[in-house]
Amino acid sequence: MIIHMKKGFTPEQEQVVLDRIKARGFDYHIIHGATGIDVIGVLGDLSSVEESYFAEVSGVDKVVRISKSYKMVSREFSPRTHVVKIGESAIGEEEPVIMAGPCSIESREQLESISKYVHELTIPILRGGAYKPRTSPYSFQGMGLEGLKMLAEIRDRYGVKIVTEATGLHRHVTEEGKIEDKNVLENVIDYTDIIQVGTRNMKSYGFLQELGLLTKAKKTPILLKRGDASTLKDFLLAAEYIVSNGNPNVILCLRGIRTFEDAKFQRATADIGAIAVLKRESNLPVIFDPSHSTGYRDSVYPMSMAAIAAGADGLIIETHNDPSNALCDGEQSVTKEQLSMILEGTRKIRKVLPRPDYSSK
Ligand code: PEP
Ligand code: MN
Repeated sequence: MIIHMKKGFTPEQEQVVLDRIKARGFDYHIIHGATGIDVIGVLGDLSSVEESYFAEVSGVDKVVRISKSYKMVSREFSPRTHVVKIGESAIGEEEPVIMAGPCSIESREQLESISKYVHELTIPILRGGAYKPRTSPYSFQGMGLEGLKMLAEIRDRYGVKIVTEATGLHRHVTEEGKIEDKNVLENVIDYTDIIQVGTRNMKSYGFLQELGLLTKAKKTPILLKRGDASTLKDFLLAAEYIVSNGNPNVILCLRGIRTFEDAKFQRATADIGAIAVLKRESNLPVIFDPSHSTGYRDSVYPMSMAAIAAGADGLIIETHNDPSNALCDGEQSVTKEQLSMILEGTRKIRKVLPRPDYSSK
């Protein structure tokens, strides 16, 4: 339920509303509007509460019930797109924001070489996986903390921002046979500017809650990828887990889904159509991953253009200095030249096709 206060409402009147919310055991979230009017979001199962319970308090303008199961991330809750700011970049505004880098950090030389050209192309956000959630336990698992430190070093050198995946708790057996936990999430929070939640973790609800709580104070942006077999409703509810636990800075990322299509042609089916749906349903920014959603380098440029035309707020692209020898996702990694073409195309598209305006609908 959303409570809109009247123009010129007093703090005492607002306090009466908050006391009523607390008296029924609900949680709330206050949005201080630019016009000086507060909007209060009441969270919980409000099916037994009448609108009049809040509407009768003086100072309250109107009470609107949110019909959707996702609340804080919905357009009903906030018709304006929630812009996520990272350094100079603002994700959710007219200009699409590009993030690029290798799937995985493989060595200092590899990261240096890729980040150098990513920086030359003036891409503001560098991606790179340090903890890799691989389908096979025998595949390269990433460089871990060492990779994270390298990524942070590059960030400081070039003044770019970084995005890397957090995979939760890792458990391993030491040489002495003891089970040891490494809290990867805490390491990632310490080093990165944007925390990526991968497709495999979108449904790890305990992890999403922990993430919301651990980033509640700093509000580190979270790039949440759609589960490869998740509905859009489940995706939005996963975002709601993070936002309702205290961090509003969630960026939704579409990365393709599983269909009957054979991986020989496309690793996943690009869910471009979902851009329009998410922009309509949610107040969160939406970006697109043309690499994982296709699986093949030649499809990355066309799908990037399609996503920007559909209104995506940005792209996250895998690129490699030596794609045929990449330890992870080489086939879908674009070269420097291809990346440069995508950037140029992105700018051209936004110039001729203004971003569809979903917020006023
Ligand atoms: C990645 O970004 O490298 C990755 C593993 O993505 P996803 O979770 O979408 O598969
Ligand atoms: Mn990858």
